[in-house]
Amino acid sequence: MLQRKKHLQSIVVPHQKDTAQKPTEVLPTPDFVYLSMSQHIGVPCNLLVAVGDRVQVGQPIGDTEGFVSAPVHASVSGTVVGVEGVRSASGGEDQLVIIEADKEQTLWENIQRPQVKTREDFVKAIRSSGLVGLGGAAFPTHIKYAPSKPKDITTLIVNGAECEPFITSDHRLMLEEAENIIEGSLLVMKYLELKECFIGVEDNKPDAIEGLARLIREKGLSNIQIIPLRSRYPQGAERVMIYEITGKTLDAGVLPAEVGVILSNVASIAFVGQYFKDGIPLIKKRITVDGNAVTRPANVLCPLGTKISDVIGFCGGYKEKPDKILMGGPMMGRAVFTDQLPVIKNNNALLVFSGRQAWIQEETACINCGRCHRACPFKLLPVQLSTAVDKRDLEALARLKVMQCMECGSCSYVCPARKPLSFNNKLGKNIIKEAAAHGK
Ligand code: SF4
Ligand code: SF4
Repeated sequence: MLQRKKHLQSIVVPHQKDTAQKPTEVLPTPDFVYLSMSQHIGVPCNLLVAVGDRVQVGQPIGDTEGFVSAPVHASVSGTVVGVEGVRSASGGEDQLVIIEADKEQTLWENIQRPQVKTREDFVKAIRSSGLVGLGGAAFPTHIKYAPSKPKDITTLIVNGAECEPFITSDHRLMLEEAENIIEGSLLVMKYLELKECFIGVEDNKPDAIEGLARLIREKGLSNIQIIPLRSRYPQGAERVMIYEITGKTLDAGVLPAEVGVILSNVASIAFVGQYFKDGIPLIKKRITVDGNAVTRPANVLCPLGTKISDVIGFCGGYKEKPDKILMGGPMMGRAVFTDQLPVIKNNNALLVFSGRQAWIQEETACINCGRCHRACPFKLLPVQLSTAVDKRDLEALARLKVMQCMECGSCSYVCPARKPLSFNNKLGKNIIKEAAAHGK
């Protein structure tokens, strides 16, 4: 059993896992879905359908030849009734394909279990499934599974840490789809020729750890091991998880493959297990719905493209005025300006707050307490970085390693002056990226 003596710096956050004991509920097919053509990092998909077309569940409706991309599939059967340009949750341009559901949920006639013999077949099948990192990054999984030096990769790490407050969707998945997780892990290990697999789960989920461990014992698998991890934040961050399990450090922007590791979120791995049984591409997502403005917090399995307002409606609607809506957790999630946006592939939670819980405390002067620095897993200097951002000082931003910041928000969380340190670092990274784009 792994017993790491040294850990990266981390913080304690309140867990508030209100929905951990609530089995996932399936949202009935909504009247309309709004499928985004930008559900992965990389260039958006081009439309494969037009207004008036009939579509079936699992039919590709968008794709692109861009390298870092993944196709989008119809999550309901019905008729394409519109294509709409909108501002996405991230503030960029997005295109939504609107499908009016016929409620038949007819499967596309070309759906079939992937026929795979080689690594190349496997990677191709994963691309066809539309899978992207479901833990938040939306990085297309088939790229991760096709490293440039495959022989150097030995280890699969399955990330079952769920360290943000409120979110329990992966916890429920581990309880409800343990079989898919083990089968998905075995498939990835088989086709990528990996010798070992570690499933990292925080020790505040003993039922998930026990369930997975029991299955591994029953199947007599010696090459898959559950690693209980400390319940700290940001345990689920890719670089933190890799360090905690292997002791290897990784710079920002460097793929885990460089240290011999493939890392996938537990939801992505469970999807692989299910996909190789039924051939149905990625068309639904399990999300946690919580926050003091939601009538009935729950875990909900909904078709991709379901509007936030429809998901909240399924959970009894708002019980208080929604002052803040977050897609994702309170530490790294994105605040959105409307509940008319759709659920996308890497969305793991919808949190809605009102009144005091949505209140942003006023910023005061820095008291040089150093807590922000001590909270940072990578020992960055958030105060100095903020000064460099204010001055747009490229040299200082580079010297202070702003690009190493993963925007985990730990520094902002511990700051008694409520400084938006993590957000400042995001601005600093943008300054560096803009300068690089202009050849500076
Ligand atoms: S947001 Fe960046 S600077 Fe702040 S603690 Fe996280 S990694 Fe460190
Ligand atoms: S935690 Fe806040 S108050 Fe303390 S040094 Fe950092 S920025 Fe200043």
